[in-house]
Amino acid sequence: MSTCDFCTMPNARWLYVPQDRARVALMSDDGVVVPLPNDGRWRACDLCSDLVDTDDMERLIARAFTTMRILGVLLPDGGPDLEHMAMVVMANFATVLAGRPTKQPL
Ligand SMILES: [Zn+2]
Repeated sequence: MSTCDFCTMPNARWLYVPQDRARVALMSDDGVVVPLPNDGRWRACDLCSDLVDTDDMERLIARAFTTMRILGVLLPDGGPDLEHMAMVVMANFATVLAGRPTKQPL
């Protein structure tokens, strides 16, 4: 099974392939932007795929944080630290849509 690139759960079933690869990049915690190592291809599970297709960034980020906590990743409980992290995650997720991706089954 492939890992979902959004929520990190091991049940990805879809692949988003960007049409505009040059515009796809990742932003790190300290704001450094680097090109994606995987040509901007994002794998998604059914749930995340629904949220991507409906452009529901808020729930997509909430889901990612929830599953990260389940998997033992230490996250801030709230406040500016969590807000900053949400912005970084949102910027990274937004690269999926910026590349005008096509969606295909894995
Ligand atoms: Zn997912």
